Amino acid sequence: MRYELMLPHQIRRAIAENWPVALPLGVLEYHGEHMAVGMDTLAVIKTLELFEKEKDVVILPPFYYGAASYAVAPPEGSGSVQVGGNALAPFGEELFYSLLRIGFRNIHAIIHHQTENFVAGMPTDLAFKAAGRQAIFRFLEKERGEGWWGSQAMADYYSGHAAGENFFNWVQVHPLMSADMNGKYPFDHAGIGETSLMLALCPEAVDANHFADNTGWYTASAKDASAELGQKGVAMIMDHLRMILRP
Ligand SMILES: [Zn+2]
Repeated sequence: MRYELMLPHQIRRAIAENWPVALPLGVLEYHGEHMAVGMDTLAVIKTLELFEKEKDVVILPPFYYGAASYAVAPPEGSGSVQVGGNALAPFGEELFYSLLRIGFRNIHAIIHHQTENFVAGMPTDLAFKAAGRQAIFRFLEKERGEGWWGSQAMADYYSGHAAGENFFNWVQVHPLMSADMNGKYPFDHAGIGETSLMLALCPEAVDANHFADNTGWYTASAKDASAELGQKGVAMIMDHLRMILRP
């Protein structure tokens, strides 16, 4: 369900049943002359909408204003919007803290931007990862008081942790495309991989009439994109979503 359309009784049910809560996290960035600047975020939104048809999930309003960077193109006339990680982290902390206050304990930000470096991290995902950690510490200290971890009530912490319990799983950040898609689907920026994903998920974000206007090396393969290839990527992404978004 889309969060903004939920009634309180539906929110209480989602909390009670531990539905995953998904934040589409992304950027607005130049993706060549043939594709819309929202591509990265739209890929997350559209696949979550497909996922919602098969499983219970809360989809938060998307956050588009991440750190696109000007690595691909300067912003003038290109459309890239850059909000640095240092500005994002405090916002993310407030957002996650608020979601914890509501009662959600199964929160996932999903991002498709610079995620070929996801393990080491890049500014947007690092900011939201740090924000999640900060929010969880702050929330636990508010709910349980300082010294909560050292209290006798936590004596089974390590055995619980070994069994998979972990407060820090309450807020997680994931790449849209899992590492095991490496070599199975082209990962690129505005090339055949991303363009095909958009043709499959959101064809109005691609205009084939503008392929010829591209001059960047990274868009050279875009003209070979197809919805059929994109569907293969979507199928792999859906498998990944089924793994990470569980009650
Ligand atoms: Zn992209």
